[in-house]
Amino acid sequence: MRVNPPIDMTAMYYREKLKTAGIPEEQIGLFYATPCAAKIAAVKSPVGEIKSAVTGVINIDFLYNRILKFLSLKYTETEPPQTDDLLTSRGILWSLTRGEVTHFSGRGLAIDGIKNVNEFLENIENEKLDKVDFLELRACDESCAGGILIRGNRFLTVERLKNRSEEYGAREDDRNLKMDEGFIDINEHGFLGNIEPRPMGKLDEDLSIALRKMERKRRLMCFLPGFDCAACGAPDCQTLSEDIVKGEAQISQCIFMQQQMIKQNLLSQDHAFRITENIWGAERLEKNCNKMGAEDENN
Ligand code: SF4
Repeated sequence: MRVNPPIDMTAMYYREKLKTAGIPEEQIGLFYATPCAAKIAAVKSPVGEIKSAVTGVINIDFLYNRILKFLSLKYTETEPPQTDDLLTSRGILWSLTRGEVTHFSGRGLAIDGIKNVNEFLENIENEKLDKVDFLELRACDESCAGGILIRGNRFLTVERLKNRSEEYGAREDDRNLKMDEGFIDINEHGFLGNIEPRPMGKLDEDLSIALRKMERKRRLMCFLPGFDCAACGAPDCQTLSEDIVKGEAQISQCIFMQQQMIKQNLLSQDHAFRITENIWGAERLEKNCNKMGAEDENN
């Protein structure tokens, strides 16, 4: 759908608002606290736009630990920061499965979970399904509530958001009124430009080099274990092997290959640890009982 996503529309709204309040454009920074790694890509290489209206992205789990630490210091006298009360019940539910499709009057279907989405797209490609007007496709189970950067249990997050949406619903009229006072001209900013297919998986511009790289990639796949565990930072072994032949990754990023290399004295234990630390960040490897499934998960 060639419509600007809410994240960009919101950023445009606040940029205009700050400019109207007299803040110079170069001093405005708009950062999105994201539950989702895909949103990082959406900001860095936006679809249908040259540049995203968002300045940068901060992972929610990074913020969560810092805010939790701050709260545990019991600075309760600190006033919460002032925010615009522009949330709506529909806005809160938008991030959950069926959040978009319920606003569509034609035949719309909502699919979540990357495997389900793949399977569904294959059905469409194989012409097993037709006459669908709108598809809401979300990579994560339970949509944004299941984003990999979200803290806590996705089902409890869904429950919390639904409860919050009901609370907001009671005061909905006021909020709709406020939204109409926005600065954004939907016709001017609401629609995207042309969406061109992106060249995916191209190993090289030169076909003969690309073929050699393809051979090398296949050789590498003889060594990589095929667990597709993503511990190397790539989503699966195929992607890591592709990144290696493109010169963007090393085979030592695979944690299983690291063990082989340590056994053969090709890599030290310390070096292997540093590689993993570089991929995931030192903080990720530290003890943290607030992570999903840990004893303080919901505290
Ligand atoms: S860490 Fe190794 S096994 Fe896991 S996805 Fe990466 S290459 Fe594959």
